[in-house]
Amino acid sequence: MKLPQVDYEAPRTVEEAVDLLAEHGDDASVLAGGQSLIPLLALRLAQPAVLIDINGVDELSGVSVADGWVRIGAMTREYVAEESGTIAGSVPLLAAALPLIGHEAIRSRGTIGGSLAHADPAAELPAVARALDAEFVVRGRSGERVVPAAEWFEGYLMTSRAPDELLSEVRFPAAGPGTGTSFQEVARRHGDFAIVGLAASLTLSDGVIADARLAFAGISDVPVRAAGAEDVLAGERPSAGLFDEAARRATDGIDPPADLHGSSEYRKKIAAALVRRGLRAAADNADERQ
Ligand SMILES: Cc1cc2nc3c(=O)[nH]c(=O)nc-3n(C[C@H](O)[C@H](O)[C@H](O)COP(=O)(O)OP(=O)(O)OC[C@H]3O[C@@H](n4cnc5c(N)ncnc54)[C@H](O)[C@@H]3O)c2cc1C
Repeated sequence: MKLPQVDYEAPRTVEEAVDLLAEHGDDASVLAGGQSLIPLLALRLAQPAVLIDINGVDELSGVSVADGWVRIGAMTREYVAEESGTIAGSVPLLAAALPLIGHEAIRSRGTIGGSLAHADPAAELPAVARALDAEFVVRGRSGERVVPAAEWFEGYLMTSRAPDELLSEVRFPAAGPGTGTSFQEVARRHGDFAIVGLAASLTLSDGVIADARLAFAGISDVPVRAAGAEDVLAGERPSAGLFDEAARRATDGIDPPADLHGSSEYRKKIAAALVRRGLRAAADNADERQ
């Protein structure tokens, strides 16, 4: 399908991009890797008057570490993050999730900021961001604001970014000693969006769970933290029985959507299995890292 007629702007700096967003507001869409936006345009599901292409804004790319946080520029390509030694060493949960996104061709164009601004609830990175309490840095004409992950995802493909704001950076806390992580998902084929996915992180101290983090993809219109299960895990020693109980708590009261890939009940069963599997893998990793 042909793309609709649309005006095109190609800023070279964040300031220029922000000025263009302020000028066009709701009429503009930011173009990052285009892996989600271009299909939406082709299908006429998005109909902006102006595309603001930020591929030429070099200052939006890169990975750095400061004050215990790993900072990733919004335009950092998914494959660059996947190959980053800093991310592998300091945010292993993100490193585990990245290779599960689509295929290499998609990850070579798709960006970290694009995935998190798009906010598909079945996508891997929103679940990772929610599990780790990532921070989102947005820039507008009036300056910068930092949004915690708990306040970023507002609904299906909806975030708390205002139309005149640019997502410039996402910050993930560096994993501490004793932290093990795992990203688990069930998809029809490798590279498909997850039917259900789970981001899991456990931090062990003297064999006891000091911190537990679980977030699902694919069970709601936003990524969902399993707070009840996290409470069950904290202060306990890892065991199969404990992980069974966590799986029960994590899926108690959830009501996943049904579609042609599976019923609500099927998704619930997958979710429970992923909690058991994810916690086992995270506990094994944590043992290795202590
Ligand atoms: C065949 C196929 C399979 C895929 N499979 C998966 C998968 O399994 N898992 C998965 O997670 N994703 C998958 N994707 C999507 C892929 O990860 C995309 O790269 C990602 O969702 C969007 O990133 P992008 O950089 O291409 O953003 P774009 O498509 O350019 O933009 C997406 C949206 O975010 C907005 N946006 C982008 N950057 C910014 C910014 N800096 N500030 C403000 N707004 C911004 C855009 O305006 C647009 O609304 C798949 C895509 C395809 C085509």
